Amino acid sequence: MMFKAFLIKYGEIGLKGKNRYLFEDALMRQIRFALDGAGEFSVNKEQGRIFVDALSDYDYDEVLERLGRVFGIVAICPVVECEDNSWDSLTKVTGDYVASVYGDKPFTFKVESRRADKRYPKKSMEISADMGEYLLDRFPQATVDVHHPQVLLNIEIREKTYIYSLSVPGPGGMPVGTNGKAMLLLSGGIDSPVAGYMIAKRGVRIDAVYFHAPPYTSERAKQKVIDLARIVARYAGPIKLNIINFTDIQLAIYEKCPHDELTIIMRRYMMKIAEHIAKEDGCLGLITGESIGQVASQTMQSLAATNEVCTMPVYRPVIGFDKNDIVDISQKIGAFETSILPFEDCCTIFVAKHPVTKPNIRAIQRSEHHLDDVIDGLMETALNTREVLLCEPM
Ligand code: ATP
Ligand code: MG
Repeated sequence: MMFKAFLIKYGEIGLKGKNRYLFEDALMRQIRFALDGAGEFSVNKEQGRIFVDALSDYDYDEVLERLGRVFGIVAICPVVECEDNSWDSLTKVTGDYVASVYGDKPFTFKVESRRADKRYPKKSMEISADMGEYLLDRFPQATVDVHHPQVLLNIEIREKTYIYSLSVPGPGGMPVGTNGKAMLLLSGGIDSPVAGYMIAKRGVRIDAVYFHAPPYTSERAKQKVIDLARIVARYAGPIKLNIINFTDIQLAIYEKCPHDELTIIMRRYMMKIAEHIAKEDGCLGLITGESIGQVASQTMQSLAATNEVCTMPVYRPVIGFDKNDIVDISQKIGAFETSILPFEDCCTIFVAKHPVTKPNIRAIQRSEHHLDDVIDGLMETALNTREVLLCEPM
């Protein structure tokens, strides 16, 4: 394997003092987690940069793919190492590296050097100039361009020398675990996994809740949601998924409330239960995949009615997105194929032919009074009988 290490570049804007150290530690933790099972690696922080050293064989594409899912990484630079820092070894290793990556195609380049070990006999400027000369000799098709080089060759002399010129973009964002935790309302659709992904990208750890209605919804529908949680977990880390049996609450609503208000009332109880678990588990907000105007339950009036029962902030990261935009992200994160599997979710069973699109909150509250005798007990049972699963990355 040509690359013995990876230099991890991350955004440093606004990272000062204690914040910087928390950010870096969380990033190293997430990198170790992402590489678990892909080989043996050591992850270290050195002078404000993170190095991942390979201690065993590994699959290059797999490692890049895994690092590409770690929020907080801006770029990944595969590094060639030269164990012995003599000038002869250094030029040979650098030259061989350039030959294997750029072959005999013409290219322009610039060498940039750093000397962490100040005892090294050449100064940085000299290292760059001398290496440049060596490369021009060895690669007649290459020319130097100090302003816009196609190849920026970095040479860093420490105990060993690190050589790198490639830079693979990372996902950006902030490392998960730097920004508290939130509760994702995860359905089997396209939107909510994307919403969870987007909030996790800002450094937020994710718990999730799914409402099912057996026997109206199937085991396969539930398994689909578990699979989606495991897909989001590839980015967000393991997700604690609460599965709530919502059947009796739905039946009570169906029996006692006007049918055109079913969806809104149901959505309000989902939010209430989600918020209850969220508070118990130390979450600081709820996350949904709602988008203005997408369906009757997501008009401005419907969103206001749903929102009214929550005291926690509700984060709706796809609120202004068109379906196409959401589908793009869903495909990018590998959730789409699972999201479009055709299993019914619990909302489609009890939908009215003509749901209200402009619900009036007072009217909804009046309808909910029909549930006064039963709802507390039903909510308590739903909470007490919930199933909790830890969904590991798929
Ligand atoms: P999605 O594609 O995420 O399923 P949707 O377009 O089907 O969204 P709705 O069914 O109105 O929209 O749901 C809006 C949001 O409410 C979802 O994005 C999700 O966050 C939450 N939600 C809906 N149904 C459930 C459920 N059965 N369990 C948990 N959350 C749900
Ligand atoms: Mg849905």
